Amino acid sequence: MKHNKSTQCVHVGTIYDEKTRGTITPIYTSSAFDYLNVEYHAYPRYFNTPNQKVVSEKIAALENGEEGMIFSSGMAAITTVFFSLLKKDDHAVFQSDLYGGTHHAIANEMERYGISYDFVDSLETEDFISVIKDNTKLLYIETPSNPLMKLIDIEAIAKAAKAKGVITVIDNTFASPINQNPIDLGIDIVVHSGTKYLGGHSDLCCGAVVSSTEIMKQVWGSAIHFGGSLNAQICSLLERSLKTLALRVNQQNANAQAIASFLTKHEKVDAVYYPGLTSHPQYELAKKQMHGFGGMLSFEVQGDPDAFVQKLQLIPSAMSLGGVESTITSPKQTSHSKVSPEGRAKAGIKDNLLRLSVGIEDANDLIADLDQALNSQ
Ligand SMILES: *Cc1c(COP(=O)(O)O)cnc(C)c1O
Repeated sequence: MKHNKSTQCVHVGTIYDEKTRGTITPIYTSSAFDYLNVEYHAYPRYFNTPNQKVVSEKIAALENGEEGMIFSSGMAAITTVFFSLLKKDDHAVFQSDLYGGTHHAIANEMERYGISYDFVDSLETEDFISVIKDNTKLLYIETPSNPLMKLIDIEAIAKAAKAKGVITVIDNTFASPINQNPIDLGIDIVVHSGTKYLGGHSDLCCGAVVSSTEIMKQVWGSAIHFGGSLNAQICSLLERSLKTLALRVNQQNANAQAIASFLTKHEKVDAVYYPGLTSHPQYELAKKQMHGFGGMLSFEVQGDPDAFVQKLQLIPSAMSLGGVESTITSPKQTSHSKVSPEGRAKAGIKDNLLRLSVGIEDANDLIADLDQALNSQ
């Protein structure tokens, strides 16, 4: 029987310890396995050792996909997808509003392999489809996007790309599988930086890919050459983290909603970007394609943004996101520091924009901290 997400988080994949009759998966650290009388040859770089399989099964179940693989970082997962599915003379279509590392990987690696591509500035399905050529193999999106929480209509774009025979990929890091399941909406491949919500405690680095058995076979075929596998200890830490994923994300959703509505009403805040606000231009789309609106939001603060951040007592300034602790960052100084001022202006990223990754603390404590810092701006 297929269970709901919170139950899957706790139970899927667990290897009960028969030797001791313990309830949790032991850590199997072996890198040398028997080759006789076994169903398959296990080896860490084949992505098929016990702890790797436990977390791969769990993430595949959470994303409603047939199979999953866990990588040593989000970028290992993403670049393995690119270079397992694309070859010389292929063309790919990318949303321009992507995670910086992904954007750099495309801009710096693709051409050397003879792969051409287009970045699409717009959020509209037609604009993505209009750049598809005869040799287009892959279409890649990220929604909600960083840092302005812009959305792409997942179902519409998946359907239109499929009609053209193009494989669709989505980076589902910001939403997490608790808030958004793109495979149900027709997307072929889901990728994650597991360093964020899946890990959730700002203490590990990993990535994930989920897709059909057929596509995963191809991804696996290259992944064993590229070698971005994750070791047993970190797989075990990730398994432990995933048990509380639904619990954490549901709390983060509720906290972010409360904070977003508080910020909207504050006189020192010029704008708030959160898909759960009725004022978000794509609120209806968010309701349609997300089960929860997420723990990420951004806002424009009056006065000096650095002074504001330094006045916060509970919320530290930090890059990365998705941890149990709330953190705040300035896109101008971090994720978009290499983008020119004109480029940032064009993308709508103002100098006073701050991005908040909302944690699982008590919402009232977080609001009180933001309030005291805002009132002294
Ligand atoms: C962090 C991040 C990545 C890259 O993941 P790493 O684990 O740092 O390699 C990719 N996409 C998004 C949306 C991210 O936030």
